[in-house]
Amino acid sequence: MWPFLVKHQSLSTEAKQDGLKKQIVKLFLDEGEKTIPEVCHFARLSIPTGTKLVEELVRLGFLTEIGKRDSLGGRRPAIFDLNPDNGYVIGVEVLLHSMRVDIVNLRHEVVYEYENQAFDLSRKEEAFEFLCGIIPDLIASQKIPRDKILGVGMGITGRISPWQGISYSYLNFDVPLVKLLTDKWKMPVYIDNDTHLMALGEKRFGYARGLQNVIYVNISRGLGIGIISNGMIHNGHSGYAGEFGHILAEENGRLCVCGKRGCLGGLVSGFALETAYQELTGAPAPHYKQILRMALDGDADVRNILSSMGEQLGRSLAILVDILNPEMIILGGGFSFACEWMKFAVIQGINQYSLPQLASDCEIKVSDLGDKAEMLGAFALVFDEVLK
Ligand SMILES: [Zn+2]
Repeated sequence: MWPFLVKHQSLSTEAKQDGLKKQIVKLFLDEGEKTIPEVCHFARLSIPTGTKLVEELVRLGFLTEIGKRDSLGGRRPAIFDLNPDNGYVIGVEVLLHSMRVDIVNLRHEVVYEYENQAFDLSRKEEAFEFLCGIIPDLIASQKIPRDKILGVGMGITGRISPWQGISYSYLNFDVPLVKLLTDKWKMPVYIDNDTHLMALGEKRFGYARGLQNVIYVNISRGLGIGIISNGMIHNGHSGYAGEFGHILAEENGRLCVCGKRGCLGGLVSGFALETAYQELTGAPAPHYKQILRMALDGDADVRNILSSMGEQLGRSLAILVDILNPEMIILGGGFSFACEWMKFAVIQGINQYSLPQLASDCEIKVSDLGDKAEMLGAFALVFDEVLK
C-alpha cells in the first residue's frame, strides 16, 4: 500500500504532508497530466511547496515526467503524470445473468477484462463462491502484486446500502457482503448499486463532469436512474434512490419482476425490447443488444420499437424534469450505442409533457462513456475512499 495513505490520528507535520500528497494524486487521477505550476494553481500550493511535493512523488515512483509543455518564451515546463503501473483498481459488475471484472491502472486504462455470461446471481451460494474465487485467480493470472491493488469497487444490481456494505436484493447473508469479501480477498471492498456507479463515472469522467444537477438513465436489461443533485450522487435515505424502472407507467400493465403491474421498466428496457421483438416476429428473441444492432443495420421495425420506447421514456422523464430541474439528462447503459435512435423521441416526450422553461434548460445527451461508465465509477468509488 502507498505510504502516504496511512490514516493519521494527529495533526503532525507528517500528517499534513501526507494530506497534500493525497490531494496532488487525486488531482492527477481526476484530470491527468499537469505541470508543477498547474499543480500549484489547482491544489492551491505555493511554488516551493508544490515543487518539493511533486519531486518527492517522482522520487517515490508515483509521478513520472512525460514531456515538456510548449512555451512562448523561456524554459519549457516539464509535464508530469501518474506512473500508470503503480496502482490498480479492480472494478466488478454483478448483474442477474452476467458478471464482469476490469483491472484498471492509474490512468484509467483497462489492463485486463473478464466477462462471464453464464453467471447466475439467483443461485446465491454458487454465485458467491464464484465471486470469491475469480478475483484472486485473475490477480494471480495477471501477475499483479497484491500491494499494488488499492481496492475493489463493485456495482451490483438491486437494493444496496453502500454505507453498511449490504446487498439486500441478492447475495444477502447474515454478515454484510462487504465484510465477507474483505475477509476473503484481504483488500478493501466497496459496493454500490450498478446505476449509481455509472452516474458517478459520468460525473467524474463523462458529460456530467463539472455539472451540478444531472439525471443519468441506465437503459440496460432493466431501467434505473442515477441522480446527481447539487454536485453529489443522491443515494436517498437507505441507498436505494433511482428505481425509475418501477414507477407506474401503465394501469393494469404487464407483471414486473418486482411483483407489481405496469412498471415503466416493462415498457422501456432490454427486457421490454426482447418482448416487443418476440411479439412482432413470433420468433424467440435474441439478446437485446443483438436486437439493438439490427436497428443500427437499418431494421425499420426495430427502429420503430425504439422510437416508441423513447417517447414513453420522455413522457416519464418529463415528470422528473419538472420536479428536479436538471441541466442535463444522459442516456446510457447497455443501450448507449443505439440511443441515438431513441434520443429524438425522448426529447419530444419531454417537450410535450414538462414545463417549457424546464425542458428548454435541460440538454439531452447520449453517454460517450457507454459501457465504460460503471468501471470508471468503481475507480472513483475506490479512490474517494482510500484518499479520504
Ligand atoms: Zn416493477
